[in-house]
Amino acid sequence: MIDPWSSESLNHKIIEKFGVRPFKEVIGEIKDPHWLMRRGVIFGQRDYNKILKAMKNKEDFAIVTGMMPSGKMHIGHKMIIDQLIWYEKKGAEIFIPIADMEAYSTRNKSFEESKKIAIEEYLANYLALGLDITKDSINVYLQSENLVVEDLAYILSKKVNFSELRAIYGFDESTSIAQTYIPIIQAADILHPQLDEFGGPKPVLVPVGPDQDPHIRLSRDLASRFKKEYSFILPSSTYHKFMSGITGGKMSSSKPNDAIFLTDPPKVVENKIMQAKTGGRETLEDQRKYGGSPKDCVVYEILIYHVEDDKKVKDIYEKCKNGEIICGECKKIVAEHMKKLIIDIGKKREKMVEKAARVLEESNG
Ligand code: SF4
Repeated sequence: MIDPWSSESLNHKIIEKFGVRPFKEVIGEIKDPHWLMRRGVIFGQRDYNKILKAMKNKEDFAIVTGMMPSGKMHIGHKMIIDQLIWYEKKGAEIFIPIADMEAYSTRNKSFEESKKIAIEEYLANYLALGLDITKDSINVYLQSENLVVEDLAYILSKKVNFSELRAIYGFDESTSIAQTYIPIIQAADILHPQLDEFGGPKPVLVPVGPDQDPHIRLSRDLASRFKKEYSFILPSSTYHKFMSGITGGKMSSSKPNDAIFLTDPPKVVENKIMQAKTGGRETLEDQRKYGGSPKDCVVYEILIYHVEDDKKVKDIYEKCKNGEIICGECKKIVAEHMKKLIIDIGKKREKMVEKAARVLEESNG
């Protein structure tokens, strides 16, 4: 019932062409699937059985999910943190690389700037959202300060050549050497939890959007090429749909009027939601008669991503389909919910900046 929107082309492409399997093939094996799994937001997976087995048998496994400290955190980013909280409860060790080397080589951000953004904009929000990055099971680090990752990247780079990177990423003569090195650093981020100093080979899961799949494929290829030296297990991955922006495209920090930021004042959040694209009918009369179309509605999508209670989501879905609710009313309900969430995160975030800075100082090695 709840699989409401349709920008599926990239999603289908990776399922058809690159051996990604539908997530619904494995969801039955999970006792209490996350709401993003139940609702089809997480739609694809590769080798998820290894993760299932580790969770079931209480064996070691890890999650790696990086962040690029280049802009503001919006509500679309929140879904990664929601997943991390779920996996942490299942016993995962979590690795959060901060991609300051990538921000330096592709976005012209200085390392100091990246560190500041990572602390104030991302890590403080992670803490406010309930991910306790002070725990021993969570490793946050700056790529530029993690010598283990940098050394592994150098070793991995021995078995990658420029033609391969050009074929995967479209690099050409004008691409800087720093930029060509980024995919290798990311592969090292993904594979380093399997080094002896982190407990040796283990299943590793990387939750990504479909656009990140080239990194996953390269990391898996490198895991195979270095199997003899490190006994790497090929990393697993899941694929999630991106949240839509207010007017319907992909939500992005580079389109500030189209994204809802975790730092937006509540009134701004409300205004953005009141302007969102809906699946409502042209006239009130038609809406009452034929009902709306939640699958084409950004407001409904916000519920799908951010309201944990299935009953509330289903209630809006049915009222919309039956014409019992009109878009104005519905937007107000969703705006109230999101304002509360944003106010709550804001209050907590204020107290978290210092803690976030401390975590980063202590965790880099
Ligand atoms: Fe979207 Fe709500 Fe309008 Fe239905 S009633 S189309 S869910 S805003």
